[in-house]
Amino acid sequence: MSAVLSLVRPDLRGFAGYKSARSEALQGDVWLNANESAWPNPADGQGRSRRYPDPQPPALRARLAQLYGVGPEQLLVGRGSDEAIDLLVRALCVPGQDAIVVTPPVFGMYAVCARLQGAPIIEVPLRESDAGLAADLDAIREAALGQGAKLVFLCSPSNPAGSAIPLDEVAALARALEGRALVVVDEAYGEFADGPSATTLLDDHANIAVLRTLSKAHALAAARIGVVIGDAELVAVLQRCQAPYPVPTPCADLALEALSDAALAQTRERVASVRSERSRLQAALERTPGVRRVYPSQGNYLLARFDDAEGAFRALLAAGVVVRDQRAAPQLGDALRITIGSPAQNDRVIAALDVREQAA
Ligand code: PMP
Repeated sequence: MSAVLSLVRPDLRGFAGYKSARSEALQGDVWLNANESAWPNPADGQGRSRRYPDPQPPALRARLAQLYGVGPEQLLVGRGSDEAIDLLVRALCVPGQDAIVVTPPVFGMYAVCARLQGAPIIEVPLRESDAGLAADLDAIREAALGQGAKLVFLCSPSNPAGSAIPLDEVAALARALEGRALVVVDEAYGEFADGPSATTLLDDHANIAVLRTLSKAHALAAARIGVVIGDAELVAVLQRCQAPYPVPTPCADLALEALSDAALAQTRERVASVRSERSRLQAALERTPGVRRVYPSQGNYLLARFDDAEGAFRALLAAGVVVRDQRAAPQLGDALRITIGSPAQNDRVIAALDVREQAA
């Protein structure tokens, strides 16, 4: 058994999952094996949705693999990276026994999935420094080894803190946890970051998995297409734990169009715009009275601390601008997270916060 398979729950190592009609390799021209309709729905123009889809639509899987620079067998397509997080926790963590490590303040789904699985949650808070709010890799390693973690979720770029973790630190952590835990690098915002993807570490580290999504830079949040990339044997296990037909055909078709060369070129332009607007909004916020700190960000958002976060939140709302109130999150009692919008939208953020100062 490969080292990474030994991380899978023992009771799931030989688990075959559901054998759908679609996954059987049979040949014929009259398909009466899946209780589908013989006629398309009138709303379904070309009848593309009449039959159950391939569990992993091959063209989409191949295109995503090409996009991320990996082999198709190293990648599983699912309903957003949210589903990938859930699959990882379910496949690796024995309830009541195997823990996950999270780095609060951080994206909430890791802890939600762990709660649902009955997996203990080890919290290693982000550390405040001059450079920003960053993951403490030494503390993560010690906590993971000391408390029996099976999964370590690194959010890089971190939502909401904005910091990215240098790849040599990810690699060192994976080496230290080899045979003990899988290091999951959530790169939902990877397109907006300066550095390369952790997929470049996969050849040397079977105990790394990387999450990517079409929800952010590719502007397809409603299509629910995300992937987990990692060791091919691990990917096969995760697929057996997945729902039978996780990728709806209309979503797969849309995603493939979104990955055409022309669409990708436009996505790259949008990413460049977000990155330059991020600098502009950061500079503007730093000049705004009442803003205590704006964290450097590698994502498509900025995290900012305010003297009066409630007032800033309300001033933005009064101007019709809804941002994410972070005040309930650990360490963020005075903070808001502002997604980078279009230049005109960002101007409205700047104007709304200035108006507040003029009125004060
Ligand atoms: N990871 C992070 C860090 C996120 O912020 C989000 C969405 N907010 C997700 C994963 C989930 O994205 P999706 O399921 O749309 O791929």
